[in-house]
Amino acid sequence: MKYLSTRGDAPARPFCEILLEGLAPDGGLYLPQAYPQVDAATLARWRPLSYPALAFEILSLYIDDIPAADLKHLVEKTYTAEVFGTPQITPLKALDEGVYLQALSNGPTLAFKDMAMQLLGALFEYQLARTGQQLNILGATSGDTGSAAEYAMRGKRGVRVFMLSPHGRMSPFQQAQMFSLQDPNIHNLAIEGVFDDCQDIVKAVSGDLAFKQRHCIGTVNSINWARLLAQVVYYFAGYFHATREATEIVDFSVPSGNFGNICAGHVARSMGLPIGQLVAATNENDVLDEFFRSGRYRVRKSSETFETSSPSMDISKASNFERFVFDLCGRDPQRTAALFGDAITREGGFRVTPEEFARIPSFGFVSGSSRHEERLGTIRDTWRRFGTLIDTHTADGLKVGREHRRAGVPMLVLETALPAKFAETIQEALGIEAPRPAAMVGIENLPKRCTVLPPDVQAVKHYIREHVAA
Ligand SMILES: *Cc1c(COP(=O)(O)O)cnc(C)c1O
Repeated sequence: MKYLSTRGDAPARPFCEILLEGLAPDGGLYLPQAYPQVDAATLARWRPLSYPALAFEILSLYIDDIPAADLKHLVEKTYTAEVFGTPQITPLKALDEGVYLQALSNGPTLAFKDMAMQLLGALFEYQLARTGQQLNILGATSGDTGSAAEYAMRGKRGVRVFMLSPHGRMSPFQQAQMFSLQDPNIHNLAIEGVFDDCQDIVKAVSGDLAFKQRHCIGTVNSINWARLLAQVVYYFAGYFHATREATEIVDFSVPSGNFGNICAGHVARSMGLPIGQLVAATNENDVLDEFFRSGRYRVRKSSETFETSSPSMDISKASNFERFVFDLCGRDPQRTAALFGDAITREGGFRVTPEEFARIPSFGFVSGSSRHEERLGTIRDTWRRFGTLIDTHTADGLKVGREHRRAGVPMLVLETALPAKFAETIQEALGIEAPRPAAMVGIENLPKRCTVLPPDVQAVKHYIREHVAA
């Protein structure tokens, strides 16, 4: 299997060459040359498999430059009950008839990003050891992504993490999660500024190509293909849990921001997994809902991007969306480059043609959005009727999923975080304290390890230079 760029002009490359990369050199995103097809007999063979065995089968279709025994070992040491809480890894919880939550947030940082990031940590360490390379991951975070990356990379040989966060602006819980890590390869840099300052510094440092090369700077953002691929697995796992045979179809509802999670659903469906609808659920930041309703994709300015109570979905543009549009326009790289390279730069957005718009239903996509009051209402309703406590992002997914519910078709709502992570809003909705997993009780009192720096590119570069020398 080789990978191509959505914008066409990168040579097709094998998996391990794109593993450590974000954007393709032409600014596009990597996709496989074709989606491997899975028939009913294969689905039947996969149905009884354990999560790691299933992951191995699916990853093997996309990765042909890691020996099978090694890949098997990597997934087996990643997807364990010890790390993800249960042997099923992503168990289903039934609510009312035919409505399920699929738990993706029982990993070390209590959000679904662990599902992919934990595998990425194992793959990175493996590949760096094979090539004798080092990687210094530079990122900016306002919460979930940074902690998932740090917990995945802690103690990994050949990898260091430099994670910038806005000083004093993350919740005490989020700060404690990240800053309590004592691993010497993890560097928390608290920047005296806001999240945008952190992101600007990351861009400036990565934009200095000489510095980037000399210090082997890389990223782990959501456009990384390996992250997306790891997420494909749980769509298959969820399908098998909810059905008995491959004649049945299921719908998925996905709390969406950067379109990474639901894009993995699109890949699974394109492989032949019997998914009916893929429901894109947004919060007040409804870039994606607007697109699926109107065919118009309009990137928001920061002044139009709202801070909401489902903050991990507060996005101004959906960074993985280009992958779907590439497939929607018949995998035409010129067309994709015209839309994402030119139209977005010049006009801040685009509208697909009526023919392209008419093709959307054949990909299963539908959408909806959810607001703060609806989020609170859904959290209350789910607690009162089923005794189940859900987080704010999952509430958005459940609210919109219910709007698209079809008789006789199971609706699987992806649970993307545990309520303990967003305890303030749980308090507001129900007046109760969201319970924490035992390992997280009192983490605010642990010793913290972080370096406060001014919002200055030179200061960050200096810090990196000093700490990669060893
Ligand atoms: C990242 C995140 C999302 C959004 O996922 P995308 O892949 O960006 O669409 C939703 N919920 C939670 C809790 C997240 O951390």
